Amino acid sequence: MPGDSTKININAGGVAKNTYDAIVIGSGISGGWAAKELCDNGLRTLVLERGKDVVHLKDYPTATKNPWEFPHRNELPLVVAKENPIVGRCYAFTEATQHFFVKDKDHPYIQQKPFDWIRGYQVGGKSLLWARQTQRWSKYDFEGPARDGYAVDWPIRYEDIAPWYSHVEIFAGISGNKDGYDTLPDGEFLPAWEMNCVEKDIQQRIMANYKNRYVVQGRCAHLTQPNPIHLEQGRTQCQARNLCDRGCPYGGYFSSNASTIPWAKKSGNLTLRPDSVVHSLIYDDRNNKAAGVRVLDAHTKEATEYFAKIIFVNAACFNSNLILLNSTSNRFPNGFGNDNGLLGKYIAFHNYRGNVSASYDGPQDKYYYGRRPTQPMMPNFRNVHKQEMDFLRGYMSFYGAGRGTGTYGNGEQLGGDYKDSLTEAGDWFVSMLMQGETIPKETNYVTLSKDKKDQWGIPQLVFSVDYDDNDEKSFKDFLSQASEMLDKAGCKNISQHDSKQAPGLDIHEMGGVRMGKDPKTSMLNSWNQFHNCKNVFVTDGACMTSTSTQNPSLTFMALTARAANHAVEELKKGNI
Ligand SMILES: Cc1cc2nc3c(=O)[nH]c(=O)nc-3n(C[C@H](O)[C@H](O)[C@H](O)COP(=O)(O)OP(=O)(O)OC[C@H]3O[C@@H](n4cnc5c(N)ncnc54)[C@H](O)[C@@H]3O)c2cc1C
Ligand code: SF4
Repeated sequence: MPGDSTKININAGGVAKNTYDAIVIGSGISGGWAAKELCDNGLRTLVLERGKDVVHLKDYPTATKNPWEFPHRNELPLVVAKENPIVGRCYAFTEATQHFFVKDKDHPYIQQKPFDWIRGYQVGGKSLLWARQTQRWSKYDFEGPARDGYAVDWPIRYEDIAPWYSHVEIFAGISGNKDGYDTLPDGEFLPAWEMNCVEKDIQQRIMANYKNRYVVQGRCAHLTQPNPIHLEQGRTQCQARNLCDRGCPYGGYFSSNASTIPWAKKSGNLTLRPDSVVHSLIYDDRNNKAAGVRVLDAHTKEATEYFAKIIFVNAACFNSNLILLNSTSNRFPNGFGNDNGLLGKYIAFHNYRGNVSASYDGPQDKYYYGRRPTQPMMPNFRNVHKQEMDFLRGYMSFYGAGRGTGTYGNGEQLGGDYKDSLTEAGDWFVSMLMQGETIPKETNYVTLSKDKKDQWGIPQLVFSVDYDDNDEKSFKDFLSQASEMLDKAGCKNISQHDSKQAPGLDIHEMGGVRMGKDPKTSMLNSWNQFHNCKNVFVTDGACMTSTSTQNPSLTFMALTARAANHAVEELKKGNI
């Protein structure tokens, strides 16, 4: 594969045949949105996806299986667990879902420090697997870095992205209540899921005991009551089965496969190419812009080049970093756009280490219906209006209450008594967990291995990412505050836990190609374009300047839709 971008080789029928208006790398949550917006705007768009095709409805082999239809009753077979110590740590990797996850040995990487890199390589990417929690970021999130000086200033504010949140929420279908708190802006919601009686008790008691701590029902990408726009996508009402990460035959939750990709296909402007591993971007020295991408066939490893006026890099945070670091040329010898040497740096993630469990003396005559796909949550209450703790930023908290079944879990899982007890609801339990903001640092970075390559001859990614003292303090604060809140809410047997999980298992990977105002300290401008190459856009987690405490994917969607529409306008004006 040529490192010199001036040599362009075509082996698949000439430049014209391989030329599109736009190329999108990756078909996951962000790539799906780029494809939809570009196709809706009439651009002939090529989506390059390294994994296999997964067609909605057709390719969900386990979606309707009962537990007894799995050879291991949906427990991970020991041999699979042993062969996959990394992805095996992900709660969603089960006998029913393993075919949608990357296996450890197929795609190795190097951990200078422990890092669990969880991936889904297929059409739809991790949109098939995600837990679908979707909160808008607040003004405090976009203003935070400038106010507290822990990262470069975001080049946008909440007002810039708010209309694009609305745009993606309406199409994706987000359930939630309009709660009216500025730390968690309201959106365009479908009806919310209900809290159960114990969750409501806890909500009321926490809010009665603390002035600025709010408990709301979680917002999630589920069709509680589909609108015409969702029916037009061929999706229908969520049935509260919570088997979502097998792929949903109802299209009840948002995935690229059920929503954006088939929508883009219907426009007639989409060419979707699965099994196409993007190796690097091609830089055109004569026109001072990116010309296209180099692709290796996932199976034959045959190389092909594709060309377009604009390129969207949406391979998910670390693969986008990898592709860009691997895109060397005369103009960019150290990786694409990397004049300032910051490509791959300022990686950040979410700190999920803390959780607190408890029992609750709840009503024995009350139960709840179905398997609700969300739970109550509390937006961050630390350092919101001013810096007031001995650590920066804060954490969002999620909690849930449920009833066990009989003696399940006490070790006696045999015999008639045990079976009978399974038909009875047991005691109430509660658990609360943190989602902590981490600080993007130059010392948390990814880079390319100099000697180790993958099976396509592409350098392996090296991770040097770790927690710091700030994470430790925020984690300890969560444990003490969660325990105190549950105590005040009337819970008993409160117990604190440190999952000790490595960074990465949160699967909220961000940074490496951050947005900012100044080309000296950031890679992308306010429209997600490279400061020094305006026809390349990065709109997945790689572009993030900071992490907020909110879940990230709704923001990736909104940034992508915003950038894609800007790209179309700029193209029409002849600016790119
Ligand atoms: C179990 C789980 C739970 C989660 N829960 C939540 C949640 O509740 N809320 C939330 O906001 N987020 C959640 N996430 C994270 C969410 O899934 C990601 O933020 C989101 O999918 C990122 O979108 P993306 O487009 O950047 O990447 P992806 O969806 O991963 O898509 C990237 C695509 O690019 C492809 N690709 C990679 N490299 C190449 C290459 N070289 N050439 C061509 N194609 C390539 C991949 O195969 C993949 O299809 C969760 C993730 C998991 C796994
Ligand atoms: S809970 Fe809803 S979205 Fe999930 S699998 Fe069931 S019907 Fe589909």
